[in-house]
This record gives sequence, C-alpha cells and structure tokens, in this order.
Amino acid sequence: MTKPDFDLIIVGGGMVGSSLAYALRNTAMKIAIIEATEPSSEYQPSYDDRGIALSYGSQRIFETMDLWSQLKTYATAISDIHVSDRGHFGVTRLSAQDEQVPALGQVITARYMGQVLNHAIAQQANLEPIWKATVTSLEQFDDYAQLQLDNGRQLSAQLIVAADGAHSTLRQLLGLGALERDYQQTAITANISTERPHKGCAYERFTDTGPIALLPMSDNRCSLVWTVKSGDDAAILASSDADFLGQLQQRFGYRLGKLTQVGQRNSYPLKLVQADQPIQRRVVLIGNAAHSLHPIAGQGFNLGLRDVVALADVLADGHADYGDSRLLHDYSQWRQSDQDKVIAYTSSLVSLFSNDNPFLGHLRGAGLSLMEMLPPAKHWLAKHSMGINGKQPRLSRGIPL
Ligand SMILES: Cc1cc2nc3c(=O)[nH]c(=O)nc-3n(C[C@H](O)[C@H](O)[C@H](O)COP(=O)(O)OP(=O)(O)OC[C@H]3O[C@@H](n4cnc5c(N)ncnc54)[C@H](O)[C@@H]3O)c2cc1C
Repeated sequence: MTKPDFDLIIVGGGMVGSSLAYALRNTAMKIAIIEATEPSSEYQPSYDDRGIALSYGSQRIFETMDLWSQLKTYATAISDIHVSDRGHFGVTRLSAQDEQVPALGQVITARYMGQVLNHAIAQQANLEPIWKATVTSLEQFDDYAQLQLDNGRQLSAQLIVAADGAHSTLRQLLGLGALERDYQQTAITANISTERPHKGCAYERFTDTGPIALLPMSDNRCSLVWTVKSGDDAAILASSDADFLGQLQQRFGYRLGKLTQVGQRNSYPLKLVQADQPIQRRVVLIGNAAHSLHPIAGQGFNLGLRDVVALADVLADGHADYGDSRLLHDYSQWRQSDQDKVIAYTSSLVSLFSNDNPFLGHLRGAGLSLMEMLPPAKHWLAKHSMGINGKQPRLSRGIPL
C-alpha cells in the first residue's frame, strides 16, 4: 500500500472544516487543512457579521470539545423563542424553562466563531494548516487520493473531506450532481438596536413576503435575518437607514418598541443545494458542500456540526485505513436520516411560511395557535430546534474523543 502524506486532508477551513480538524486534535491522525483565504477571519467570506444561532446541541458539542469557554465570551443565550405570523392570529412561544434546559440556544457572530476556531487550529500539534491555496485537481486511487494545489504542491491522503462550502470545488471536480432549488429569495442581514430590551428572546415573524428573524445579541442589539423576494432586495439595501428601519418596523411590528439603529447590511441569495452522493471513493462531503439550506430555521451550521461529530466519532478510534469504504458507509448511514429530515423540514417551512396565499395564512395561524395549546407538539418543535434528536455521537453526549 502506498503511504500517503496525510491520514486526512480537509479542504475548506470554514466553520465546518475547522470544527472537524479541532474535533480530531487528540487522535493519532495526521491531518492537513487547505483554505483558500489568509489565516484571518477578516478575509474568510463565511466569517462575516451574520449572527449564527447555535442550538443547545451545538453548544454541548463545543463544551465537550473544550471550546465553549472561549466562544461563550461572545455568545448571547436564547431563553425564549416567539413565533408569529404577520396579519394573522396565532402565536407560539418556546421557553428554556419549559424545556428544562439553561438556554434554547446561543447567538454568536460568524466572525467571532472564526476567530476562536482559527486560533484553536493554529495550536493543534497533529494539524498542518495550508492557507491561501486552492485545489485544482483530484485523483482517486484504490488506497489513497491525491490533490494538486494551485501553489504547485501535490498532497495525498487516505481520506479527503470536502468542507469547501456551497459552491464546492471538490463537488465539481468529482462531477457530482446536486439537487438545487432556487428559492427566489434573498436574506438581508444587519445588526439592529431596539428601544426595548430583547431579554434573551429570539423572534421569528412570518410575513407574506418572507420570514424575519431577530436574534438576541450583546449590548441589547439584535441580529436580523430578513428574507425578501429576490428583486426587492436591491431597493431595500440601498435605502437610507431611516427608510430601512421604517420598512422593517412596518413588517416586524412593535414587540421590541421602536427600532432605533441599523448597522452594516449584507445580502445572500438563497438556494437549497443537496449533493447527490456525499460519499465517494476516498472522499466525503460535509457541511454546506453536502447541503446548503435556507436560513429560515437557523439549522445550516448546526446540521454541519452534527456531520462533523458523527464523522469524527467514526474516524477517532484509529484505523489502518481512514478511507475504508465501510467506515464511510457507516458515517453516511448514520447521517442520512437527520440530513433528509432537516432539509425537508426547512423546505416545508419556506413553502408554508413564505406564501401570500390567504388559505395558507389561516392554516398557519391555526397551526401556531394549536401548537401553543399542545405542549407535546411544542416540545417536539423545541427538541428539533435544539438539535438533540436521534442517535448521538460521543461529542454530543459529553464524552471527549
Ligand atoms: C444569512 C444567513 C444566516 C445563517 N444563520 C444560521 C444560523 O442561525 N444557524 C446555523 O446553524 N446556520 C446558519 N447559517 C448557515 C451557516 O452560515 C452555514 O451553514 C455555514 O457557514 C457553513 O459552513 P461551511 O464551513 O460548511 O461552509 P463555508 O462557511 O462556506 O466555508 C467554506 C470554506 O471553504 C473555503 N473554500 C472554498 N472553496 C475552497 C477551495 N477550492 N479550496 C480551499 N478552500 C476553499 C472558503 O474560503 C471557506 O472558508 C446562516 C447562513 C446565512 C447565509
């Protein structure tokens, strides 16, 4: 058997790729991570100012990985979630108290996540980070796979993990198809200051043009994700601060009093992308490279992190061949159902809640009222939002690798 340069090469040092590298820090594996940008979260496109709602399950994973003590400095706890539908009756509320957990989730900006993760992987003895490099070709052999980088280096490994995001180069090099659904929607993000304190409550408000999420953040700011029809975004982005806040206030209402200030705005066209076959010979796709979701339910990274801990669990016990097809098959079997459920759940929320059909509007109102009256239904929704359903890998159960 040819001895490859590494046991594992991770392509893409975003939130998902870096989390995988860090999860495997105490193993015997020799790992490389290849990232297209400079070693600073300032330059990585995914480490921008968007607020990421980490589920309770993701928080537990970072606790087990000994990273939570650093992340929590920048995090704001979600104590309650308030879901409403503009123009219809029906509201439902989830609370940490009812679910008997310290918090339903935590909000942290992607930029801080990037700072903490980049610093953490820089200290890792079994990891070689390769910055400012991209992959130009991939060859798969029986006992290893080989990558050619644009800086002239050639690297081989028993296993390659593609964590290179929604526009995955590895997916393209493999010639893999993907299910794609263009939602014809754009998410506008910004930090918003409000007259009344958020008191740890996250608001999800459905409107006829798309959902609005306001997530609690430090200094009594909220992180906004405002989904609008593509085509409407340019005018909203170009409006003055006063106009922007006026339009948002009209759609969100006065639950947090007057909306007083808006920070820098960013926009993201929204599309579902699901790779056809995330397991290939000596290659696994994880995170956004495997499935990129609508942010309506704040599940994209949480789902990617569950890929990470399941794959780390399968790899961690020391194997003669980390790219063995049986290992990859075990991983794929384990993850399939969670991925399918979250994708289906997210897509049906988009269809049901981004719709101006009056019948669906009444149905949504009735559904939210019913949910409020049925504690088991609320409990089911809360468990889903917290990401603690199904068979849990060790890192999710508080057991270090
Ligand atoms: C508006 C918005 C709000 C969101 N809110 C939430 C939320 O509240 N909760 C949640 O869980 N998720 C949320 N998400 C989703 C979350 O941001 C993504 O799921 C997450 O960023 C995916 O991480 P990733 O590492 O898989 O991919 P990416 O973040 O895209 O990282 C990929 C990395 O690979 C690098 N790269 C790309 N190509 C190459 C190459 N060829 N060679 C080397 N490196 C390469 C890139 O530079 C990048 O660093 C949100 C998304 C959006 C757009």
